[in-house]
Amino acid sequence: MNRILGKTRAEGPGLRTALWVQGCTIRCPGCFNPHLWSNRGGTPRDPGDLARELINLAEINGVEGITLLGGEPFDQALPLAAVAQRVRATGLSIMTFTGYELETLREWSATRSDIKALLASTDLLVDGPYRAGSPDHARPWAGSANQSFHALSQRYETLLDGLEGIPDRLEVHVRADGSIAVNGWADDETLDLLLEDLGRRQR
Ligand code: SF4
Repeated sequence: MNRILGKTRAEGPGLRTALWVQGCTIRCPGCFNPHLWSNRGGTPRDPGDLARELINLAEINGVEGITLLGGEPFDQALPLAAVAQRVRATGLSIMTFTGYELETLREWSATRSDIKALLASTDLLVDGPYRAGSPDHARPWAGSANQSFHALSQRYETLLDGLEGIPDRLEVHVRADGSIAVNGWADDETLDLLLEDLGRRQR
């Protein structure tokens, strides 16, 4: 695990808690999170403890679900499926971002119970690698136009019909120690302007 954000409106439908996992073997050129590629640098967590923490945070923050992103959740599908199953059993939804395509994951799931379990515990899947040459400005949350949304349960089926009407969001969190964390999605120009402005203020 790399990071948990207790409350966000920028990483999926509604108010959510987000979990960034550490490690990704896909390594898309232009990825916004290359610091999450290595298997080192994260914090190993017991799935039961992590699920309890996420459920607690969800209750405190009144969120509707948990978003798994990274890093690559399906590179560690077994522990994440255990987390997702426990979280989902409380009524929270699970949204998962993956750089693999759903078709590939379904093929693998014929022989991989871990992949099958994480797919079965996911309500909304965004699949496909990030393609820097085809950024997605029309839909929320997706990084590039090749990526697809899949409702794997009934929970978000109707949401997919109105995706184009949902704006992308970029969130800036100022921590108690003065450090700044940014999450969500914006085009390069907006992001550059924001970071330039933050840098100016810091100086
Ligand atoms: S799958 Fe996601 S985390 Fe991995 S390289 Fe691609 S964009 Fe980055």
